[in-house]
Amino acid sequence: MNQHIRNIRATALFCILGTAVFAQPNRWQQKVKYKMDIDMNVANNQFTGKQKLEYWNNSPDTLGKVFYHLYFNAFQPGSMMDTRSQRQGTIQAGRGADWDPRVKDRIKNLKPDEIGYQKILKLTMNGRPQKFEVLETILEVRLDKPIAPGAKAVFDLDFEAQVPLQIRRSGRDNPTTGVRYSMSQWYPKMCEYDYEGWHPTPYVAREFYGVWGDFEVNISIDRTYILGGTGYLQNASQIGYGYEAPGTKVVRAAGNKLTWKFIAPNVHDFMWAADPEYKHLTKTVRNGTTLHLLYKATGTAAKAWEDILENAVIALPYIDKTFGPYTYKQYSFIQGGDGGMEYPMATLLASPGAWLHEWLHNWYQGIMGTNESLYAWMDEGFTSYAEDRVSAFLKKPEGPEQAGNYAGYFSLVKSNKEEPLTTHADHFNTNGAYSAAAYSKGAVFMEQLGYITSAQVRDEILLEYYRLWKFKHPNAADFIRIAEKKSDLKLDWYKEYWVNSTKTIDYAFDSLWEEGGKTKIRLKRVGMMPMPIDLQLTFKDGSSEMHYVPLDLMYGAKPAEDSIRRKVYPAWKWTSETYIVETDRRLGDLSVAEIDPSQRMADVERKNNRIKI
Ligand SMILES: [Zn+2]
Repeated sequence: MNQHIRNIRATALFCILGTAVFAQPNRWQQKVKYKMDIDMNVANNQFTGKQKLEYWNNSPDTLGKVFYHLYFNAFQPGSMMDTRSQRQGTIQAGRGADWDPRVKDRIKNLKPDEIGYQKILKLTMNGRPQKFEVLETILEVRLDKPIAPGAKAVFDLDFEAQVPLQIRRSGRDNPTTGVRYSMSQWYPKMCEYDYEGWHPTPYVAREFYGVWGDFEVNISIDRTYILGGTGYLQNASQIGYGYEAPGTKVVRAAGNKLTWKFIAPNVHDFMWAADPEYKHLTKTVRNGTTLHLLYKATGTAAKAWEDILENAVIALPYIDKTFGPYTYKQYSFIQGGDGGMEYPMATLLASPGAWLHEWLHNWYQGIMGTNESLYAWMDEGFTSYAEDRVSAFLKKPEGPEQAGNYAGYFSLVKSNKEEPLTTHADHFNTNGAYSAAAYSKGAVFMEQLGYITSAQVRDEILLEYYRLWKFKHPNAADFIRIAEKKSDLKLDWYKEYWVNSTKTIDYAFDSLWEEGGKTKIRLKRVGMMPMPIDLQLTFKDGSSEMHYVPLDLMYGAKPAEDSIRRKVYPAWKWTSETYIVETDRRLGDLSVAEIDPSQRMADVERKNNRIKI
């Protein structure tokens, strides 16, 4: 998107019928434009690459160096990924060793023709050779002349690479899927420089962060291979394999190889996969968006893959409406990789089950582009939350909506291995605590936000967050500010407790008594994290009342969420451990009193939330 248009939009701030329309944030960000010519040798799994990278320094800073990621270098014995994985293997977590079962100690056993590497043969900036140093998975380039604020530099980089045997995410000849090439993290990729500085994160198997930009990628490969990936194929009529427009006569060039020409606008990464046995199905949804499926499974196993497209067509209108419209013209579900992994416009799936989760990453990893290393929960957590909602819409839930996410969080608390969500994704002590925090506690953040602000306001927050922060790398504070503006509540305390700390929620009944014909109930905060309270009273005659006590730190109250008669109290001050509510009904009329009957509050001890008289 053009920067000037963005600035004009940012000045539009006005109010309609009391509903504030908020300005588009105007945070600067770098921009890249890659052009890559790749020549793949499928006999030895090596390829050469010529990369031209135009780099716009939109920051206010003068850059004396730049950094690239060289992810494939992680797949060498003794690498940081190898060292870390082997160490995690010595730690007990839950049912077994803490290492990723896909990585284990496999890296140390890789033979020379099975390792991965990216070798830099030549690197120039604006035509002048540059000094660089390869620090395993990071390339550090000391520039002979710094890049001034607002200036553009052109880097030309020649490299050669070997595709590692599939260990984690990318690689060749996956032992389970049999897919020849899963090409993620495969090219020298400029690290992101943002308001928090450079992010040259050594690759230890975890999260990603990249610079928004445009990709032009030309891949020459053995003509029997069928490709899928991030970009739009530009020369479909010279390639065929299901990419050509219906009725087009495909004319392929002579020779052993075909050159696949892709472009991908406004993405922060580019992935591709290739296999001679891929079957390729497509489905066009709404005007001009095409869903692609590339898979190898045959017989009865093929059905689950083919169902992906059917379900995706049903789900997309609901997803667009709930989380914001999908912005690209294409999305590809591709058999490959291990587990499931998200990339812009595409996913690699070892099995079809993860299709929905990975697809929904396109909203949080792909389109928001949050720094996953720092805010993994805003990617994995929001995606897991969305996955449960869409599963419920598709009537294919694995249980009550979000119940799995709450269970994951509660068992994390019980494990005593919990670390705050602010922990850098690479630096959690255990993989188990990272996963439960990022996926489960992150998803609970969103469902519980609905408890605090009301589900309806939370849904408005989701759409406003998407509208204002797409393609801008939002952080946790950015999200909270949107939530505050949409709900007209102060919510900084929610971030500080839920994200920055490991304090937990536990409310309980202290006592009930009758006084002057009225029933009084004293509630007690047992846990250290304060929350607003929904208390439902059900009477023997079948009627009920909702007693709502806002938290003082909110400076407001959520709207009523249902038609039950509601009584709103003055705020509960966070420093007070108890609070007394009362009903005009007699104690003998009361049947059940329940704190948080919707169970959206992540109360770690729910046994003391309900009393039956
Ligand atoms: Zn995920």
